[in-house]
Amino acid sequence: MKATVMYRAGDVRVENVPDARLIEPTDALIRITRACVCGSDLWPYREMAPLAGGRRMGHEAIGVVSDVGKDVRTVKPGDVVVMPFAYSDGTCELCHEALPTSCVHGGFFGVGGQADGAQAEALRVPLADGTLYALPVGQDDALMPSLLTLSDVMGTGHHAALCARVREHAIAAVVGDGAVGLCGVIAAKRLGAGRIILLGRHPGRIALAKDFGATDIVTERGEEAIERVRELTHGFGAHSVLECVGSGQAMQTAMGIVRPGGAVGRVGVPHYEAITAGGPTFFNNITVSGGPAPVRVYIEDLLPDILEGRIEPGRVFDRTVGLDEVPGGYGAMDERKALKVLIKP
Ligand SMILES: [Zn+2]
Repeated sequence: MKATVMYRAGDVRVENVPDARLIEPTDALIRITRACVCGSDLWPYREMAPLAGGRRMGHEAIGVVSDVGKDVRTVKPGDVVVMPFAYSDGTCELCHEALPTSCVHGGFFGVGGQADGAQAEALRVPLADGTLYALPVGQDDALMPSLLTLSDVMGTGHHAALCARVREHAIAAVVGDGAVGLCGVIAAKRLGAGRIILLGRHPGRIALAKDFGATDIVTERGEEAIERVRELTHGFGAHSVLECVGSGQAMQTAMGIVRPGGAVGRVGVPHYEAITAGGPTFFNNITVSGGPAPVRVYIEDLLPDILEGRIEPGRVFDRTVGLDEVPGGYGAMDERKALKVLIKP
């Protein structure tokens, strides 16, 4: 079968690899029908050191179950399933506390660990009962792009909004105009934010953000962005800040625009060592929270809104490619020519 393998920064290939197969009795095998390239895949695309044998890429997918191990109970061959970016047993103490990304038996797809990547024709899914979620649609449903975002970006934007404690009528600010930032706008609107300030500068993404519910756009960066948000908020800043980038500058901006008593929800994979502003965050009673989103837990919540058309996160996909064109998809996202690339193997 074909799969995407990254060998070093800038070197991503689609190659023939041994067919995915069941190993554990708790595994399922899925034929991938939709996958995509994630903003977080761009970090290794830019920085990865050479790795012999390479790393199998991709952690977002919808697929059709083709086989299951003898202990799998909740999915069966033929089911159309969405796969969260982390696998989890669904039964341990931390899964019961709604944090499957910290599952004691869990792990992540496409990071070179126990599980392979989803930018492929097929994939072995460990702990299928805890991980996969069967969707009540056919494999070519028109809602596929939006359903695919339940794998990661919509759940992650929702997590940012929850961690930032978005509430009705409050002011939310979203740092980052990537797919997660745009889903953060959807999530903030969905939770009732009265104003949503998007910090971003790409015209196409700004237009989409406005469609999703952004009320104000800040195109400045760094100190100027902080000043601009303060101007927009009577000098106080936003109640809720969704940090959806993960760079040091984005985090610093987030800390600079949160108002006293407010919260920062961070979901960008951090590429900084420390969160600064120990003094100001203390004296202003700032909450900082967030991490990898427990998207498996959020599917139940978000799915009806997608099925009933209240939210359309699938609009973040602006390019569709076949498996062989995946390397070009990485390039297009890296150069910001594409917002998010959907893969139809
Ligand atoms: Zn668990």
